[in-house]
Amino acid sequence: MIVMKFGGTSVQDSTAIRRVASIVAPRLAEQPLLVVSAMGGVTDKLVQVADLASRGELSQALEILEAIRGRHILASSEMLVEPALSAFVAELDTRMAEATKLATEIASQKSITPAQHSYMLTFGELLSSVLVAAAFNGLGIPAAHADARKLIVTDAHHPAAAPLPAPTRARLQEVIPPMLAQNLVPVLGGFIASSESGEVTTLGRGGSDYSAALIGAALGASRIEIWTDVSGILTTDPRICPKAQRISEISFHEATELACFGAKVLHPATLLPAVEHDIPVAVLNSHKPTEGGTIIRATAAHGPSYFRAIALKRNISVFTVRAPRHMGSLRFLDDLFSLLRWHHLQSEIVAISGATASVAVEGNHELAKLTSELQALGEVEFQPNMAIVCLVGENIRGRCGIASEVFGIQAAAGINIHMIAQGSSEISVSFVVEEKDAVKSVQQLHRHIFEETSAAASEAAMETAKA
Ligand code: ADP
Ligand code: ASP
Ligand code: MG
Repeated sequence: MIVMKFGGTSVQDSTAIRRVASIVAPRLAEQPLLVVSAMGGVTDKLVQVADLASRGELSQALEILEAIRGRHILASSEMLVEPALSAFVAELDTRMAEATKLATEIASQKSITPAQHSYMLTFGELLSSVLVAAAFNGLGIPAAHADARKLIVTDAHHPAAAPLPAPTRARLQEVIPPMLAQNLVPVLGGFIASSESGEVTTLGRGGSDYSAALIGAALGASRIEIWTDVSGILTTDPRICPKAQRISEISFHEATELACFGAKVLHPATLLPAVEHDIPVAVLNSHKPTEGGTIIRATAAHGPSYFRAIALKRNISVFTVRAPRHMGSLRFLDDLFSLLRWHHLQSEIVAISGATASVAVEGNHELAKLTSELQALGEVEFQPNMAIVCLVGENIRGRCGIASEVFGIQAAAGINIHMIAQGSSEISVSFVVEEKDAVKSVQQLHRHIFEETSAAASEAAMETAKA
C-alpha cells in the first residue's frame, strides 16, 4: 500500500478535489490510503473563530463558521448528487452545530483552554476528509472515510500532541487492512487525533504530513507521497526566490534539517517514522502532477552544489546572558536551560563562550517578560525581530572554506551576523540575522550558490553540445 497526503491547496475546492481523484485513479493497484488537510485556509479561519470567541465576540465567530459551511456547501454541490449530497450536508450540519456549541461555550467563558483550542481546529480536517471520500465515490473511485481521531492516538498535550506509536499501530492495523481488502480507498483527515482517554488533540500546525508518515510507518507502506502546491523540495522557498530550483533527490537528514529550520513544505517531525521504517517519501505537486518532484531517501546522490538548500525561520528572538565570573558555567547553563524548559521554549541555536550564553528561541516581543527572570542569572540582552538562515548539505561535511564562502557573501551584502552555528552533524550552517535583512540574506546566498552555479553548468553544457 502507499500513503498519499494532499495539503490544503490540493483540496481547496471542487476543481482541486477532482484533480486529486485524477491523480489517485491510476494508482489504485498500489492500494492508496489518502490523508487530507482541511480545505486551504480553513484552519486559519478556525484559529480566528477561537480567538474571537475567547474575546466574547460570538457573532463574528459564528459568521466565520457560516462562511466555512458555505465553502463546503459550494464544493459539495459542485461534486455530489443525491443521495450523497444530502448525506454530506447532514454530516456538515452536525459538525457545524458542534463547532457552534463549542464557540458559544468559549464565548461565555471569555477565555479558551488549550484543549478547546485544539478541538476547534479539528473541524477543518473532519469535514474535508468526509467530503473527499464522498466525492471519490461520486467520481467512480470506491472510497470510505475513516475517523483519524479514533486511529491516531497521542498524549494529551496541546497544541501539538505527541503520537503514541503502539496503540496507533494497533488501531490502524485493525481498521485499514479490511478496507484495502475490499478495494476501498481509506480517506483520513490529517492533523487530528485523540488521547487515550478520548480527548481530541492535534499534531500541531502543518501536522497532516506527520499523520501521513505515522500511518505509512504503522501500515508498512512502500511509499509516502506528500502532494502540495510546489514541485517538490526546492533550493529555497520560491516565495523568497522565484528562481528556486527543484531538488530531485535529498537525504532524510537534509530534509529534516530544512524542515526544522523553517522550510514549511514538510512538517519537521514527518520524516522520523519514515526513517525508522526506511520508507521513501516523495514530495509532489498536485497542481502539476506530471512535473516530477523530490524523492527523500536514506542516502541521496550529490547535487551540482555541495549545498542542497537554504531555509529561513522567522519570528526568532535572541537572549544573551552574561553570568558573573564566580558562577560556575555548569550551574549557569543548567539554570538557564531549566528556565527555558519551564517556559516550554526550545533553543534553536545556542552559542556559549565562557560565562556568556546566547540562545535563539522562537517567539518575539512577548518573550521580553522573560528578561526579568533571566536577570537572576546575570546581565541580560534581549533582541526580538530576528531570523535564522540555515544552509543544508551532507556534502559540506569536512569541506574547507564553507564558512568563508557563506559569510563572505553576507559581508558583501552588508548583512550583520549575530550568532553562528555549524550543526553538530556538520550537515548545516545556520546563523542569526535581523529579520529585516533575512530575505536579502537568503536571496544573495541563493544567487551565488545556486543560480550562478546552474548558469555556469548550463553554459558548460552548451559549450560541450557545440563542440
Ligand atoms: P500544504 O498545504 O500542501 O501542506 P504548505 O503551505 O504547508 O503546503 O507547504 C508548501 C509551501 O512550502 C510552498 O508553497 C512554499 O512556499 C513553502 N516552502 C518553504 N520552503 C520550501 C522549499 N525549500 N521548497 C519548497 N517549498 C517550500
Ligand atoms: N490544516 C492544518 C494546518 O493548516 C494541518 C495541515 O494542513 O497540515 O495547520
Ligand atoms: Mg503543510
